[in-house]
Amino acid sequence: MDTLSEASSIRLNNRIYEMQAAGMDVITLSLGEAFFDIPVPSFEGLPSAKIHHYSHSRGVPLLREKLAKYQQASSGAPVDPEREIMVTAGSKAAIVMAFTALLEPGDEVIIPEPMWVSYPDQVRIARGVPVMTPWYETVEGLASYITPRTRAIVVNNPHNPSGRRLDADALRALHELADRHGLFLIADEAYHEFVANGSTFVSALEHDPGKRHTIVCNSMSKNYGISGWRIGYMIANAQLTDQIIKLQQHMVTCAPTILCYYLAENFETIIERTRPQIQRVVGARNRMAALLAEQGVECLDGDSTFYLFASLGESRLNSEYFAERLLHQHGVGVVPGIGYGPSCDRFVRISVGTESDERLVQGISALASLVHETR
Ligand code: PLP
Repeated sequence: MDTLSEASSIRLNNRIYEMQAAGMDVITLSLGEAFFDIPVPSFEGLPSAKIHHYSHSRGVPLLREKLAKYQQASSGAPVDPEREIMVTAGSKAAIVMAFTALLEPGDEVIIPEPMWVSYPDQVRIARGVPVMTPWYETVEGLASYITPRTRAIVVNNPHNPSGRRLDADALRALHELADRHGLFLIADEAYHEFVANGSTFVSALEHDPGKRHTIVCNSMSKNYGISGWRIGYMIANAQLTDQIIKLQQHMVTCAPTILCYYLAENFETIIERTRPQIQRVVGARNRMAALLAEQGVECLDGDSTFYLFASLGESRLNSEYFAERLLHQHGVGVVPGIGYGPSCDRFVRISVGTESDERLVQGISALASLVHETR
């Protein structure tokens, strides 16, 4: 346990909740989700004899069918709802189960920085060794980190925290690397709906429809704006899913039954309702990127999700001091870049998912001023 740490973004957000409870107004650019206007669910009409109880460990069959079709529509790859998909208690659970199934103690997993804060500890929980690569490393450059102990590469697409969307060439290169070295790709696609109209999301399954080395971990948390429901899913080949199901059965039995029934029945309606809201959020992200650029603050390349990974430029503060000062002097919460990997201390993460445009502009302007003031 001593090798694990608290998720830095969650720790910071807990502090912001405490400040808000004490009556302080904080412009919150630190939350890892977007707030949508969605109705309070009614469970009327769902099968009352079933919704209160354990359900199939792979997931309620109708939900699996709908998810399989949904995934097929976005990747072109067929997904067998009987054998190749498992509904999980959030994608975090899916990722931990994937690592647990794949890794022998001491096996290595390549995690490109900036990385979502949980990956290294998720690898450690599975007794593996996270191998982080610096933020400026290219996809081709990942080859130099492969050793005889390497078992997998994490591919987070679209990307938290940069908002980067991988194109087909980059994904093809990753599949080639996986084939050449016998590796798995852990494809975390938890933000796959957060792509602007007119841009294309390419799933890792597209170039590996047989799922020989791809495990997709995905989630309703971000895409449907229901992070608290704890519903995610994993797609992998049937042999691997047959193994991983054992972990699910011994740890959680099944994802929350009542919510799975609700989602299965209301799948299409929820997507119809959230997709336009997603477009609004991605639009805000890209407007804020332009505003930062105008104010002399650069961000890592990206056009998707609701995140920006902003450079501290010539500020003399490290990312923790910077975030601390921004919070206490200006009442603006951002997440220090250092949580996204040791090479990322010159960045902070901004999330545009939960504030109005007016408050976003206020927060972004305060951040840009602090970068310049602390040169
Ligand atoms: N993957 C990424 C990249 C994330 O940013 C998050 C949450 O912040 C998750 C996975 C986990 O989401 P959940 O467990 O709610 O599906």
